[in-house]
Amino acid sequence: MASRTDIFELGRLGLGSGEGRRLELHAAIEPLEFGGQTYKPIPNLAPVMLDAGRTTLGWSLRLRFEVRLSGPCTRCLAEAASPIAVDAREVDQPGGGEELRSPYLDGDDLDVRAWARDALALALPAQILCREDCLGLCPVCGEDLNEAEPGHVHERAPDPRWAKLSELRRD
Ligand SMILES: [Zn+2]
Ligand SMILES: [Zn+2]
Repeated sequence: MASRTDIFELGRLGLGSGEGRRLELHAAIEPLEFGGQTYKPIPNLAPVMLDAGRTTLGWSLRLRFEVRLSGPCTRCLAEAASPIAVDAREVDQPGGGEELRSPYLDGDDLDVRAWARDALALALPAQILCREDCLGLCPVCGEDLNEAEPGHVHERAPDPRWAKLSELRRD
């Protein structure tokens, strides 16, 4: 069982300015709310790749991981588990003329858990779908169009204007 990293002590790496290290960690990914539904990350202990680069005054960081989000498809409500790839960067440069601070760093302690949670929320697509070409539900009867007969349509009540027109034609 991989051990889980919530806070990673970057200072432990002993990097000098201009040096970097790639680390493979495991982070707990929290369930998230999207469109009023809860989506569970699979796995919830995800392998994450952390690139840590020491700059003169601070850190340049990159976090990458991929999870599947389990929950209802935004269109048809069937179970969806769409893969979400996260690739996030942070720069922390205390002092100096242009001060840039990362909210995930406290000194040299990196809050991997909070960063992974926020980065995943930012990486979400506009819709979470069971499959890219999900047809959704029929707007008239609510049937799942992915499972309906091809060409599922409803007889519509004829538009009264057309009825008028055909009457005129008959005259
Ligand atoms: Zn769907
Ligand atoms: Zn229908």
